[in-house]
Amino acid sequence: MNLIQHFVDGKVFKGTSKRTGKVFDPSTGEQSSEVSFATTNDVNEAVSVAKKAFIDWSQKTPLFRARVLFKFKELIEKNSDKLTKIIVSEHGKVYGDAQGSLTRGLEVVEFACGIPQLLKGEFTENVGTNVDSWSMRQPLGVCAGITPFNFPAMVPMWMFPIAIACGNTFVLKPSEKDPSCSMKLAELFLEAGLPPGVFNVVNGDKEAVDAIINNKDIAAVSFVGSTPIAKYIYENCAKNEKRVQALGGAKNHCVVMPDCDLDQAVNGLMGAAYGSAGERCMAQSVVVAVGKIADPLVKNLAKKVESLKIGPGLDKKSEMGPLVTKQHLEKVKGYVDIGVKEGAKLIVDGRNLKLKGNKKGFYMGGCLFDHVKKNMRIYKEEIFGPVLSVVRAKDYEEALRLVNDHEFGNGVSIFTRDGDTGRSFASNVKIGMVGINIPIPVPVAFHSFGGWKRSLFGDQHMHGPEGVRFYTKLKTITSRWPSGIKSDPEFIMPTMK
Ligand code: NAD
Repeated sequence: MNLIQHFVDGKVFKGTSKRTGKVFDPSTGEQSSEVSFATTNDVNEAVSVAKKAFIDWSQKTPLFRARVLFKFKELIEKNSDKLTKIIVSEHGKVYGDAQGSLTRGLEVVEFACGIPQLLKGEFTENVGTNVDSWSMRQPLGVCAGITPFNFPAMVPMWMFPIAIACGNTFVLKPSEKDPSCSMKLAELFLEAGLPPGVFNVVNGDKEAVDAIINNKDIAAVSFVGSTPIAKYIYENCAKNEKRVQALGGAKNHCVVMPDCDLDQAVNGLMGAAYGSAGERCMAQSVVVAVGKIADPLVKNLAKKVESLKIGPGLDKKSEMGPLVTKQHLEKVKGYVDIGVKEGAKLIVDGRNLKLKGNKKGFYMGGCLFDHVKKNMRIYKEEIFGPVLSVVRAKDYEEALRLVNDHEFGNGVSIFTRDGDTGRSFASNVKIGMVGINIPIPVPVAFHSFGGWKRSLFGDQHMHGPEGVRFYTKLKTITSRWPSGIKSDPEFIMPTMK
């Protein structure tokens, strides 16, 4: 059995643990690898290597660091097919979708290539007579990332390219369900000329995460995953005096207004709800159908959900692949059972899908619920599978209230042809990322990604300008030169004249 270990100091690192986890190919249901679970000592070893590497790396010029990133970008492009196949083989999503997610990660590397420009500070001449002031941003030290299973390339790449471009060193703890992509990215970064020890990968579970939280030499932690773990990371990293951004779960609504282009809304929703089998933090899992659009919307959606092409991610005809693990598949099916018991109307039932000649893959069909109510668990909780719930609202105000009252605040969209409605929605909705006639409003790399409410703990979003702020600290210098200045002692709070 293939054993996935760790990547520390520029080479594969065995670690000391006897504990391992199983990695599956979701399309066949077969185990493909075993992954080593790092001990506290293994994590501490990776951090001490990263701490040592920081001494030189933080002194490299931003231009030097940018050139390594340019080379890394080239290598990702060259290895795009290989990386994409790794994502498909451990996550299960379809090839085109996996490739798109890799490209979204690559775009963050491209953004980070501009680090000389991004690290420029501010300067004011003569803040007082003959006194100048300027600010600069400096790296923090060792930063760590803890990432979820659903984007094994993109989410880690929201973090480490910017952290490293800013002069930090990095320890990544990817999801134990699909760890191979991070290992390959670490190899490629080294090949691009990154000094050993600047980017390290430790695989593992809670023990490795707790070791990160408790290691005093880690200055900042970026987390992406479910809300309960995000809150745990936020609270405990703060307690240990670390800078922290912790992105959590979601329940993204799509408001469909009666005046919208119905085809556009239906097609947008199909991709947003069932793409990646609904395992996206920006997946649309609730449609709020406003007024008379509800019946035609449900009818059109049902037809398309029934004809979804489901199969292995490497089959070019597949529109939706399997779920990531058997446990996750059971959990999602369990939610469908709950919805039925709660009295929602199951219009399309994908629970019993069987693929010909494939009994063990983690597949289910798309599910569509109508008449979902706001007190139901299937409305309140994140399902993270191919299950779309339609809630009916009588007007725009009721739809907006639903969105704003929900505990999560990651993404939302509205389909309308009316400019007033679109504008009012953008200003009044309490959500971090908003789409107007755009079903999955994931901000591009040079903007920043993050939700509101219980979808993000901390105050900086990821990548883009907020990423640079998160991975640097601000220093402000006030200076004057002695010539021509009288130097009597001053006992009052200095003010500038
Ligand atoms: P998860 O919370 O189970 O795991 C995320 C990370 O935390 C993994 O590295 C895992 O090893 C670690 N972890 C799990 N349990 C832990 C524990 N008890 N103590 C310490 N660490 C622990 O999430 P997941 O199932 O891998 O990913 C799906 C979740 O991630 C969904 O809730 C989804 O909405 C969310 N997500 C959010 C965003 C966002 O940007 N807001 C993006 C992607 C995914």
